[in-house]
Amino acid sequence: MEDRNKEYWIKNKLNSWLISQRNNPPSQGVADNSTMKSLSNRCTRLHKRTIINHEKMKIYFYSVVLFVLILAACDTKSTTSQKPNASGHTKFSKRKLVDLSHVFSDETIYWVTAKEFRLDTVYAGQTDKGFYYSANNFSTAEHGGTHIDAPIHFAKNGQTVDEIPLEKLIGSAIKIDVSSKAFTNPDYLISVEDFTDWEENTGILIPDGSIVILQTGFSKYYPDKIKYLGTDDRGENAVKQLHFPGLSSEAAEWLVENRNIHAIGIDTPSIDYGQSEYFKSHVILLSNNIPAFENLTNLDKLPLNGFEIIALPMKIEGGSGAPLRIIAVLTD
Ligand SMILES: [Zn+2]
Repeated sequence: MEDRNKEYWIKNKLNSWLISQRNNPPSQGVADNSTMKSLSNRCTRLHKRTIINHEKMKIYFYSVVLFVLILAACDTKSTTSQKPNASGHTKFSKRKLVDLSHVFSDETIYWVTAKEFRLDTVYAGQTDKGFYYSANNFSTAEHGGTHIDAPIHFAKNGQTVDEIPLEKLIGSAIKIDVSSKAFTNPDYLISVEDFTDWEENTGILIPDGSIVILQTGFSKYYPDKIKYLGTDDRGENAVKQLHFPGLSSEAAEWLVENRNIHAIGIDTPSIDYGQSEYFKSHVILLSNNIPAFENLTNLDKLPLNGFEIIALPMKIEGGSGAPLRIIAVLTD
């Protein structure tokens, strides 16, 4: 503002000089010319300073705008990555998570010859030091509830559960839905045609590296043993009474020979159907290092294509299988 006042003052002086030039005789011209030059020089210097100050103001203004934009971006980032959403869960990008695992409890369904889940309370209550404390022991067979079959389960040199590469357990997945045929037929065998129908309907071949999820609808019966297994008897004699759908050995063979899948999962107690005697689908898949996820649930919440699976079993050294936490990641 100070410079502007000076500028006005100089302009007024110049105006006064011009008026005096018009009114006064030429003899005063020399002295008046030098006055004009001096005033003109001061004016030019001031004008340059004003331009420089304007440039400084511009730089300052853009710096402030940039700083505000960076702050806004940081705030948006913290909102999406840290703040809980309305349901109290942390957002997983723009994706939806579906839990495909049953809980472990005294209702958990095991193979009829396997030891069932047990949870023993070690302590639950207030301590004499003033804090609350809870701890339990649990025991379980490898093959019960939602679990994984490691390749060694039916293949002598197959991978143990701790040796299965994570790349086999995490990745893009597809779903074959046979529930309209299998839900009312406990001896239904999933056929090669069920896979080729999926390929015809979607217009693509089962992509390399897929995790294939088989939906029979049977998880709706869980944990009713009579409906889900076909029997609530236990022991060797109960094996012949098992009735639930599974993958036919022909379809297992077709998958291994014609497609390149990473893993397979089903919403029944076994990848082979209940009436199987030789567990051929287990042998075919596990001999090819394709692990199987069994006793899955919530498969009706999955699309036929375009989702991902994350399946993380307990890392038991040398294990033939293990309890499994498995989820699907859906894009909104
Ligand atoms: Zn198993």
